Amino acid sequence: MAEVTVGGGNESFFTTRFDALLAWSRKWSLFQYPFVTACCGMEFMATAAPRYDIARFGAEAPRFSPRQADLLWVVGTISQRQGPVLKRIYEQMADPKWVIAFGTCASCGGFYDNYTTIPGTDKIIPTDIYIPGCPPRPEAVLDGLMLLQEKITKGDREPVVVPPREAPRVAQVRVGRHEGAPRSEHDQ
Ligand code: SF4
Repeated sequence: MAEVTVGGGNESFFTTRFDALLAWSRKWSLFQYPFVTACCGMEFMATAAPRYDIARFGAEAPRFSPRQADLLWVVGTISQRQGPVLKRIYEQMADPKWVIAFGTCASCGGFYDNYTTIPGTDKIIPTDIYIPGCPPRPEAVLDGLMLLQEKITKGDREPVVVPPREAPRVAQVRVGRHEGAPRSEHDQ
């Protein structure tokens, strides 16, 4: 992927390659098709709510026709009967297109290790990002989205698993308290 060069003594113009410009515009204008089947949907809705402001990534607009979407969110457990439907939806989407497996069930089947469940979206369609968690927290979902944007910039189609985050500082303090840390000076 080409690098973008900002130039000119007076900063009045910039140069880039067409593919870099295209990748930049794609990365900031993802049109999502949510394929929501199970309980992960609750966390998907939380991520889409104002608190996490997914609009700042240009990825907030759902499309209810796959023909107008380029980002497929597979959210929840995929049963054998849903498999052909999911494949058809993927095939109908606009190119280039990307797939995010939202949660453990979509990534690998989760704890549904039985004959009714498909063990992961990649058994049916190519998948770009896997977000672990049952369900994943919105922060992990946004990490996945940012990873996808990075991949779009680089033109990289290698699948990636979202790495775990460190516990936020507030959570660490709470854990410390549970382990017997003093709550206040009166406890000391
Ligand atoms: S990963 Fe957990 S929360 Fe998500 S669909 Fe599966 S069982 Fe439900």
